[in-house]
Amino acid sequence: MSQPKIVVLGAGYGGLTTVAKLQKQLGVNDAQITLVNKNDYHYESTWLHEVAAGTIAPDKGRFKITDVINSAKVNFVQDTVTAIKANEKKVELENGELDYDYLVVALGFEAATFGIPGLLENALTIGSTNKARLIREHLEYQFAQYNNEAEPKQERLNIVVGGGGFTGIEFVGELANRVPELCEEFDIDRSKVRIIVVEAMETIMPGFDPALIEYAMNSLEGRGVEFKLGAFLKEVRADGITVEQNGKKEEIPTMTTVWAAGVRANHLVEESDIEDNRGKVEVTPELRAPSHPDVFVVGDCALIWNKAIDRPFPPTAQIAMQEAETCAHNLVALVKGGELHPFEFINRGTVCSLGENDAMGSIFNGKQIYGWTATVMKKVIDNRALLKVGGLGLVLKKGKFNIFTSK
Ligand SMILES: Cc1cc2nc3c(=O)[nH]c(=O)nc-3n(C[C@H](O)[C@H](O)[C@H](O)COP(=O)(O)OP(=O)(O)OC[C@H]3O[C@@H](n4cnc5c(N)ncnc54)[C@H](O)[C@@H]3O)c2cc1C
Repeated sequence: MSQPKIVVLGAGYGGLTTVAKLQKQLGVNDAQITLVNKNDYHYESTWLHEVAAGTIAPDKGRFKITDVINSAKVNFVQDTVTAIKANEKKVELENGELDYDYLVVALGFEAATFGIPGLLENALTIGSTNKARLIREHLEYQFAQYNNEAEPKQERLNIVVGGGGFTGIEFVGELANRVPELCEEFDIDRSKVRIIVVEAMETIMPGFDPALIEYAMNSLEGRGVEFKLGAFLKEVRADGITVEQNGKKEEIPTMTTVWAAGVRANHLVEESDIEDNRGKVEVTPELRAPSHPDVFVVGDCALIWNKAIDRPFPPTAQIAMQEAETCAHNLVALVKGGELHPFEFINRGTVCSLGENDAMGSIFNGKQIYGWTATVMKKVIDNRALLKVGGLGLVLKKGKFNIFTSK
């Protein structure tokens, strides 16, 4: 195969890290590398809750893809993938078609709505810069409208967050800080605003240590967040939701329901001719699709079983970036010769932010961290992700350094 064609779909954590590694390890004449992404920018998905709450500007969490790729080695195509035809080794785009020798599918996640009536039509989701920006604008609009109506509507000030998992809690942490600012800006008494988390499990952050969960709940309740645990979202309407808790139904008037309770892989995976397991590709240890060995899948579109706990690895940026490194190594081995490596996850810990100045989590040695230490660690993690794809220049441009404002 002379100059194999490598096509990478998606410039999120998985796709961009793969390309960043490939462009370091392959020469100009080794392969034709093409990166396809629907926007001309990469957004930090792990910062989207901040964009959504309005605590950082949308531009802070994104950067131009052409700023971090080497255009002598990588051809960037801004387009939307519409179909993956793995049997024909082709990818269809809105504005054309690409063929490949090796494909990397890194198209990320979408909201999973579990068929809850009205959710798709009436809830907002934190899935991209544009979706996060919509939440930010929507919140401001509700606050602005409140004092402009003859009869102020309480539903404008009730904010419901569906899901007390990682994303929901990180978003609520930002909201708890943002709401007092919005109240000040729009002359609204803070006590009139409700932030309500609806979680079907009996706890938030399932899988986290109980001490960390207790810390998070105390921090958030202290800033006025209400939790409805063991509560099922039954219906979402434009002006309210129905929740069922302990067999009793409750109507909560709200014009803002943010759904953060579940993600699935990009629908294009399930629609493709690649064999999938409930929408994800259960990859081989080398991260290839079993039905199509020339297709690699990384990030939230890939399913990898964690044998230690007999459950799949959760969809995280940490795993997506580690998978991308293995994927890039294996592509280089296929192009230049060498041994393919199996993916091995190295757990570097998880830190959940609870707003600009609070966080909790555990680091690589299992040590639990809280408050200022965890906040600093979260920023180190965020900056490290920038370093991996764009080097020190990107960290200096987009990094988070405001550690001294933290408590
Ligand atoms: C608010 C929030 C907070 C999070 N916090 C953390 C955290 O603290 N730690 C952690 O490890 N994980 C966190 N996650 C999870 C993490 O963001 C995801 O697991 C990670 O982004 C997955 O990486 P990926 O490369 O698979 O997809 P993504 O990073 O989502 O990238 C997918 C890319 O594909 C592009 N794309 C999608 N469809 C198309 C198409 N049809 N055509 C062209 N391009 C397309 C998208 O625009 C995007 O650029 C968080 C997620 C959210 C939403």
